This record gives sequence, C-alpha cells and structure tokens, in this order.
Amino acid sequence: MTLPSRHAPLAMDAETFKVLGHQLVDQLASLLASVPARPVTRDHSPSAVRDALDLAGPLPEHGTDPAALLADTARRLFDHSLFNAHPRFFGYITAPPAPIGILGDFLASALNPNVGSWTLSPAATEIEAQTVRWIAELIGFPADCGGLLVSGGNMANIVCFLAARAAAAPWDIRAKGVSGRAGRPLVAYASAEAHTWIQKAADLCGLGTEAISWIETRDTLQMDVAALRRAIDADVAAGRLPFLVVGTAGSVSTGAVDPLYEIAEVCREKKIWFHVDGAYGGFAAALPDAPPELRGLAEADSVAVDPHKWLYAPLEAGCALVRSRQALRRAFAYHPAYYHFDDRVLNFVDYGVQNSRGFRALKVWLALRQVGAAGYRRMIADDIELSRAMARAVERHPELQLMTQALSITTFRYVPADLRSQRGSDAVEQYLNQLNEALLDDLQRGGELFVSNAVIRGRYALRACIVNFHTSATDVDAVPDIVARRGRILDRRLRPVNDQQVRVADSV
Ligand SMILES: *Cc1c(COP(=O)(O)O)cnc(C)c1O
Repeated sequence: MTLPSRHAPLAMDAETFKVLGHQLVDQLASLLASVPARPVTRDHSPSAVRDALDLAGPLPEHGTDPAALLADTARRLFDHSLFNAHPRFFGYITAPPAPIGILGDFLASALNPNVGSWTLSPAATEIEAQTVRWIAELIGFPADCGGLLVSGGNMANIVCFLAARAAAAPWDIRAKGVSGRAGRPLVAYASAEAHTWIQKAADLCGLGTEAISWIETRDTLQMDVAALRRAIDADVAAGRLPFLVVGTAGSVSTGAVDPLYEIAEVCREKKIWFHVDGAYGGFAAALPDAPPELRGLAEADSVAVDPHKWLYAPLEAGCALVRSRQALRRAFAYHPAYYHFDDRVLNFVDYGVQNSRGFRALKVWLALRQVGAAGYRRMIADDIELSRAMARAVERHPELQLMTQALSITTFRYVPADLRSQRGSDAVEQYLNQLNEALLDDLQRGGELFVSNAVIRGRYALRACIVNFHTSATDVDAVPDIVARRGRILDRRLRPVNDQQVRVADSV
C-alpha cells in the first residue's frame, strides 16, 4: 500500500516556521525587557492558574492554528509565571537564564541530536566533552576527568555516588547488589547540613537512608572532621564498610563550605572515596579570592556542579565530574572495556544513567564561549559582593537581625524593635519563628521580592541567595525596608494573640 499524498499535521513549511519563530522571538524579547517592571510572581491560586490557562478541558480531538496557539500560550505564560530572571528574585538557588542559553536550547532542539552515542551526535558529543573539560578547568579539577551533563545537581551527585559505590565495594556490586556480601554494610558520611540528594541516592541504590552517617557540624555549620574520624573508626571496628565521604562546597541553607582539605586527608588515609557536592558553590572555586577551603575540591575523587545555578544555563543542566574516567565508566557501561579507549567513539550512554540524551551542553558551551572564564569570574564575584552588601544593609537596619553571610547567601530575620532585647527567651524565640515564617509567606506572595527560608540552630530565618546577574546594588539596598515594612504589618496582626503568652512565659 502506498500513501499518495501524506498529510502530517505536525509538519510545518519553512515560511510558516519563520513567521511563527519571529513572532515568538519578538514576544520573548519584550518579555525579557519587561521583567524588572513586573511583580516577581503573582498571588494566584492553583485553580486561578488552571482557569487562566484554560486547562480544564478534555484532550482535543482536533487541532488548532499553531500561530494563534503559540502566541496566546506565550502571553498566558507571561502572566502566570514566577520570574527567576527578576532582579529581586533571591529564592532558593535558582538562576536567571543566560539569553544565549535560551537561544542555544532552541538551536539544540532544532537539531535534536541523541547524545547517547557518538554516531548519532558527532558534533554534540564532542561539544559536551569539551564543555566537561572546560567546567573542570574553571573550578581547578583535572580536565582529563570523566564527566557528563545531567539534569541538575541531584542527578550529578547521584551519578558520583554510584561511581563511588561501584569503585568501593570489594565485590561486584553491580552484579550482586548491595547484599552480595552479607554482613558488610556500606556507610556514607555527610554533614547534617548536606542536601537531601544523599537520602535519595542511598534509597535509590538500595543501601537505604540508614546507610548515611550524619556528622555533626561546628558552630560555623561546617563538618566536624574529628567527629568524622571517630565515626569512621567506630564503623570499621563494627565490621561496616565506609565507602564515601561527602563534603559540601556551599551548603544550600547558608553557603557553608566544609573543610575540604581536611576531609580529603581523612579519605586518603582511610582509602575512602571523597565526593564534593559543589552544586551551589563549586563555581566560586574559579575566583582568585575564593574561600580557601573551596579549592580543596580539586582533591576530590568526584565533584558535582550545577551549570543551571552559577553558570546561568537555562534549566536543566547539572554536571558530574569523576577524577578517574574509567571509574565512571565502570559504574555504568555494559560493554567490554576495550570498546571504549578510542575517544572518537565516546558514547555518553556508557557514563551515566540516561540512554537517549538531549544536547544540554550547547547552552552551557555557548555561554562559556560568549563571556569566557573572566566573564564568569566577574559575575560570580559581583553576586558575592552584592550578598555582602545585603548583609551590611541588614545589619544597619534596627528591626533586622543578620544571622549568616557566606558565598552569596545572606540569612536574617525580622525582630520587632521592642523585642530586640528579649531575644533568647523561649517565648520570644517561638514568636519570632512564627512571625518570620508568616513573613516569608507574605513576601513570597507579595511579588515585591522573593526570598526563601533557612532554619539555623532552631531559628527561622529569611534567606536571600544572589545567583543573578540582573541584580544590582539598588535591588539589594531595597531589601531591608521592604522586609521591615511587611514585618511591622504582620507583627501588628499576630502580636495580640501572642502578647500575653510572651509576657507570661517571660516572667516565669
Ligand atoms: C541545588 C543543590 C542541589 C540539588 O541540585 P538540583 O539542580 O536542584 O537538582 C544539591 N546540592 C546542593 C548543595 C545544592 O545547592
């Protein structure tokens, strides 16, 4: 049977593609220019968002005009999105997209190479390989390491965790599983400030989250290395098998950097894989005046970094780097080892979890080429300087209390003027936690700025992280007054309920 004239409704002629594409680029250019004048986000309910985007209907049986569809969808998205490209977006660790990265993603998806195998993606595979080398070079890790791009920091860390697991087990753990050598449970170490990826990794790998030994931190929220040593020795004495120590290079709450050199020394001595989670702070190692501990990531067996954070790649882009290319390959490949020594047939499918893979590297590579290492050092250094300026502005404000400042994260809380001298009393601390939690919610809904939160030694704090090349000194200086103004309103609203309680508890 033949199809005399096939009708493929998804196909688009070149002229239509051009018209639709230009129209979309025009809309996006206007949007990007208008973001600073828009609210960071709008306080719309889930059902309001569904209504605005007309999401209630059933799957349409028939199609619609693509030009109107695209233009209308773009407009509705503009009105119902949170803009992490807003200069006053300071939440979590979520960066604005580099414009060249936006265009790079467009180009990448038009070519649509499958970067699982070299044959299917000759140019894309080579660009990804160079991107990995450049990322390693930028942070001072050996450029001949193994590595690949993945969806984000979680996956990058999980890939390294799996590499450590395969390398460390004295039995064939990929074939026999974790119970292959009954009675010798594997143990991974991380500080209490480590990100939740490690629980997901331990769970996914079949070790279970109880295989994580949580090491206490010092006052600075950095891992206590003496406690790490004690924990390792106790586990060895009890017949367990320490296989991985995770150092965090920039904790997600406060930007704390673990003492990486000291941890590296422990790992060398005890022959344990040393992994650094640099998803947030790793790229700051590129700075000449980086915190000295940060450079210790160069001593790690593996490092995870997140180009969609401080390289401003549009989501998603994480990067796993493993010192020994063979160790990475041994954790994932199912081909004989001889298949691979020739670099012309670098098949990324052998180095990670994914099979079919998109061309994530292009947006990262284009941005690295556009601004170079110097351009990135400048932008990262400015983010850190602005965060320090925010800390100073917070400190000057009579109703704000600075809690921490490290890398580009500043944490602080609102303290009503009359409660300032009563800090530390249980009732007042409890009220301040309640007040600041309510304040966070209020600020996030208000749209003037966007911060997230941290809990620091039991105290609820607002947290501003600057990974944002749009942010200026004016934006930073505006923060204390906005926070205090909203804080005062909330304090008036919440205090009558608590006032009596606060006083009673205080006088006890
Ligand atoms: C952001 C972050 C992660 C998780 O990265 P994703 O890109 O969100 O998956 C892990 N660890 C640290 C320290 C992070 O800052």
